[in-house]
Amino acid sequence: MRKLAYSPTERHYMEEALFEADQAALIGEVPIGAVIVRDGQIIGRGHNLREHGNDATLHAEIRAIEEACAWLNSWRLNDCQLYVTIEPCLMCSGAIINARIPQVFYGARDPKAGAVDSLYEVLGDDRLNHTVTVYEGLMAKDAGERMVAFFKAARKRQKARKKARQAAKRAAAD
Ligand SMILES: [Zn+2]
Repeated sequence: MRKLAYSPTERHYMEEALFEADQAALIGEVPIGAVIVRDGQIIGRGHNLREHGNDATLHAEIRAIEEACAWLNSWRLNDCQLYVTIEPCLMCSGAIINARIPQVFYGARDPKAGAVDSLYEVLGDDRLNHTVTVYEGLMAKDAGERMVAFFKAARKRQKARKKARQAAKRAAAD
């Protein structure tokens, strides 16, 4: 669901998630960030670290959930809100349900992997024993722009590498 207007507090937490996304981008990871808030305090944060960790499960939301669970010393995050820059995937939606998080705010949709609105509606599926109230579109432009810039730069790097390889091949053939 889309709110007509988000509060300054909600925007503040999404800014923190965007900061995490930037930490990922700085080291060449897909720029997605997340924070978990309880009673006005951030108790978990994370950014995507899949490449550096060589681990398919190291998504921003999973890292933030792990940190929040460790902080609370509990697997139940039932008084918490999750803020994440991009629509959660299937794995992360599963983790959100397992952690019993009641509210999720996300920025931009992910048409290729999003499991909240785009491809599936996992968090609203009432066959599950826990459903989540979801707010989308919070600072979506900021989140989306980071993704576009990241993939544009990645394509550019790929092109440059290809060009260098072709030049090296030509030089070897001469
Ligand atoms: Zn995920």
